[in-house]
Amino acid sequence: MNLTVDNVLESWRAKAELIVKHNPPKPILDHGHVRLIDVMGDDQAIVQAARVSYGLGHSEHKVALGGEDWMQEWTEDHPGLTCEVCGLDSTEVKSLTHCPEGDRKLIRYLSRVRHTSPLEQCEIKLHMKMPIFVARQLVRHRTANLNEVSGRYSVLPAEFYVPELGRIQKQSRDNKQGSGEPFSDAEASHIQSNIRTMAQDEFKHYSWMNAQDVAKELSRINLPLSTYTEWYWKIDLHNLLHFLALRKDAHAQKEIRDYADVIGDVVADWVPFTWEAFLDYRFRAETFSQQEMELLRSMVSGALYEGGVPRDWHSQPRWRQRVFGMYDIETVRERKAFLKRMGLL
Ligand SMILES: Cc1cc2nc3c(=O)[nH]c(=O)nc-3n(C[C@H](O)[C@H](O)[C@H](O)COP(=O)(O)OP(=O)(O)OC[C@H]3O[C@@H](n4cnc5c(N)ncnc54)[C@H](O)[C@@H]3O)c2cc1C
Ligand SMILES: [Zn+2]
Repeated sequence: MNLTVDNVLESWRAKAELIVKHNPPKPILDHGHVRLIDVMGDDQAIVQAARVSYGLGHSEHKVALGGEDWMQEWTEDHPGLTCEVCGLDSTEVKSLTHCPEGDRKLIRYLSRVRHTSPLEQCEIKLHMKMPIFVARQLVRHRTANLNEVSGRYSVLPAEFYVPELGRIQKQSRDNKQGSGEPFSDAEASHIQSNIRTMAQDEFKHYSWMNAQDVAKELSRINLPLSTYTEWYWKIDLHNLLHFLALRKDAHAQKEIRDYADVIGDVVADWVPFTWEAFLDYRFRAETFSQQEMELLRSMVSGALYEGGVPRDWHSQPRWRQRVFGMYDIETVRERKAFLKRMGLL
């Protein structure tokens, strides 16, 4: 096909529409959802931006033939002549010029070295419905653009979040921001029914105030943080991945994590190479402090064992104190985090 501006645009739009169709609205919590509205760009757009200096929109197959006319040989289908990057021969490739594996490798490289600006070429727009307390956490991600339903203008429906029984947990003992042990079934049921009744009461008062013709901007002010709100939310892929790294994390509150997990699934479908690289180089990767690196290097080189330090030093408090002391890893919190990252706690 001869590419013109019109049909290039058409193919971008067609692809975006396909991705939207492929990702129907996903329900979250008791009344919430994430609905994909639109995407701009894809893995290919990231490669295109990164390759702007080469004037190429994609990665090419690499065939070690020498000489200028390798393309001719490659088209002529020499058996056994394979691309060094994807390992396929010319009968197996989908396109004789475009090497998708080259694109994948480039995106992995960009992610590894944090060359992130090409990711900003991609954008996503979502329609989200979530409790206000989740929206308050989401709104901290300042790089997103949003338009929210207005409680000054519309009467808000009586939709509020009631956590499931298993989610009704006690205050965590070791994390001041977190949840810990579950309640017994009977206790959880009692708390859940209180949560529901209190919210219902607030909505009754809200209806009463609206019936008295109190301005909507005032009648809403006692509604609970569990009230659902909705908005259109648009963000570029670089900042979206930053958001997902923070909010898919186990330290994020469960309710916002539910939204991040669903958005992550959409991203995996939309930009699979970028998603794979994000998981490998960011989300499932760890960074280590200078002190931890020194400790790790010593462990790897066996230096720690020379002084008679036992292999399972981590499980022996006295040795552990000494080794952490040797490497200036000072606080108990840092020491614990290190052991956790090493899979030792
Ligand atoms: C587990 C957890 C607990 C949290 N607890 C609290 C809390 O107790 N209290 C609280 O207030 N917040 C809390 N937050 C919110 C947190 O401090 C951030 O506001 C939020 O995660 C958004 O991150 P961000 O600023 O990097 O993202 P974005 O606002 O999307 O910004 C992305 C990046 O753009 C750059 N940027 C954006 N705006 C500016 C700017 N004006 N100046 C300079 N650089 C900018 C920064 O590099 C930033 O990292 C918590 C977040 C998490 C994940
Ligand atoms: Zn190839």
